[in-house]
Amino acid sequence: MKLNNNNLLKTGSYINGEWVNSESGGTFDVFNPYDNSLIAKVSDCGQKETKDAINAAADAFKIWKNYSAGERSKLLRKWYDLQIENIDDLATILTYEQGKPLEESKGEIKYGASFVEWFSEEARRIYGDIIPGHEQNKRIVVLKQPIGVVAAITPWNFPNSMITRKLAPALAVGCTCVLKPAKLTPLSANALVVLAEEAGIPKGVINVVHGHKASVIGKELTENPIVKKLSFTGSTEIGKLLMAQCAGTVKKLSLELGGNAPFIVFKDADIHKAVEGAIASKYRNAGQTCVCSNRIFVQSEIYDQFNTKFREELLKLKMGNGMDKDVKIGPLIDTKAISSVEAFVEDAIEKGAKVICGGKRNTENENIYEPTILSNVDTNMKVFKEEIFGPIAPVFKFDTEDEVIQKANDTPYGLASYFYGNNNAQIWRVAEALEYGIVGINTGLISTTVAPFGGIKESGFGREGSKYGVEDYIEIKYLCMEI
Ligand code: NAP
Repeated sequence: MKLNNNNLLKTGSYINGEWVNSESGGTFDVFNPYDNSLIAKVSDCGQKETKDAINAAADAFKIWKNYSAGERSKLLRKWYDLQIENIDDLATILTYEQGKPLEESKGEIKYGASFVEWFSEEARRIYGDIIPGHEQNKRIVVLKQPIGVVAAITPWNFPNSMITRKLAPALAVGCTCVLKPAKLTPLSANALVVLAEEAGIPKGVINVVHGHKASVIGKELTENPIVKKLSFTGSTEIGKLLMAQCAGTVKKLSLELGGNAPFIVFKDADIHKAVEGAIASKYRNAGQTCVCSNRIFVQSEIYDQFNTKFREELLKLKMGNGMDKDVKIGPLIDTKAISSVEAFVEDAIEKGAKVICGGKRNTENENIYEPTILSNVDTNMKVFKEEIFGPIAPVFKFDTEDEVIQKANDTPYGLASYFYGNNNAQIWRVAEALEYGIVGINTGLISTTVAPFGGIKESGFGREGSKYGVEDYIEIKYLCMEI
C-alpha cells in the first residue's frame, strides 16, 4: 500500500494516548478482500485492555467535560481539517481493507469528515432551557450534560464514517469514548485516531480496542458500570444481544441495525431517473450498505420497460480491483459474504425466479459477485424476507398502491425506503404510509450529515447526524429553585 503519510498505518490498540499491543502478544490478520493478500497484523486485545480503555476514558472524562464548548469545537474542527488534508491516504487504506472503489472511499471519507465538521459547530449550541415555574417562588432550569463514557461498536461496511458519526457528537458534548471497530477493517479506525492525536484531542478522550473476539470486548463494554452509553451499528441479531447485555446496568442505547429497504417505482415515474436511483442505492459498496434497496417493486404497466433499461445500465458497471480507475463494483467483504449471496440466488431460482443478468461470480475474480437482476420473484423467497447485503436486485411486479404499501411494510425492518412517482397526492400518501425512518422520494441517495439518520422497528432507535445527533449523548437534568 503506497501512502503519502505512512504514520497513518498503525496496528496497535490505542489506550490513554498510547499505541499498545495486547498483553498476550497475539495478533490477528487483516486481508485485502480483492486478492486475499495480507495487509496487516493487528494487536488482538481482550477484556483486560478493554477495562484499561474504559478506565482511561473515565479519567479523561473528568477533564474533557470541563473544556469549554469553544475549545472542544476548535479541536474537532482541526480533526476535520486533517481528515480532508489526508483524504487520499484515508481512502487508500479504506479501499485496501474494505474493497470498495477508491472514488466511493473518498466519498465515504468526505461523508465521515462532514460529521466532525457539523458537530464541531453543534458543540457550541447545546442549549438548556428556562421553564416558567409552577409556583410564584419556584424557578426551573434545564441543564444538558454529557452522559459520560460512551462505548461505540462499528461495522466493516463503512469503516470510517460509522465511527465519526458516533465519536463526533459524543466528543462535541463532552463525552469520552471507547471504540471497538470491526475486525475486518481496523486500519481506517486507527488512521482516524492518528489524526485526532495530531489535532490535539487529549489522551484518553478517544480509546480504540481491537480484537478478534468481539464477544469478549463487547461483554466488558456492555457490563462495565463505568460505561454509561452504548452506540452500536451492525446487524439486528448482534444489536439485540447487546441490548440484553446492557440491561444489567441500564445503559442508554443507540442501535443502527439492519434494513430491508423497498424501492417502489410507480407507473408515472421518470424511468431513467428511477433506474439511475436504483443503481445508486442498490450497487453502492457492491450492495453492502444498510440503506441499499433490497426489494424493488415496479408497477406492472412499466415492469418490462424498467427491467430492460435497468439491465442495460447494469452491464456498463465495470468490475474489478477498487484501486483501478473506473471500477464501480469491487469484491464482497469475504467468502462468507459470497456464499450468502449465492444462497439467496439459489433459493430464488429454485422457487421460480429468472436471472435477467449476473447470477454468478465474476470469472476473473472469484471474490466479486456480478451485479444481478432477478425477475419472477415473490414474497416466499429469501430475497423478499431477509437483508441481502450483496449486489442482487429482485424486481417484484405490483398493481395497486395499497398492495405495494402492504408489501413494502411487510418486514420487521424499518430503516430506509425509496419511491419514484409524480403524483403529488400519492407522494404524500405513500411517504406517510411507509413504516421507515428514512424515505427517499425520487432519489436513491439519502445520506447526509444534516438529516437525522436512523431506523424504526427492528432497525433500531436513536438518530445520527443533524441537530438531533447530540441528543443520544446528553442527559437532561433540571434544577428546581425556591427563591
Ligand atoms: P455485525 O456482525 O453485527 O458486526 C458489527 C460490529 O459488532 C462489529 O464490530 C463486530 O465485531 C461487532 N460484534 C459482533 N459480535 C459481537 C458481540 N457478541 N459483542 C460485541 N460486538 C460484536 O454486523 P456486520 O456484519 O459487521 O455489519 C453489517 C450489518 O450492519 C448489516 O446488518 C447492516 O445493515 C448493518 N448496518 C447498519 C447501519 C445503520 O446505520 N443502520 C449502517 C451500516 C451497517 P467483529 O467485526 O470483530 O466481529
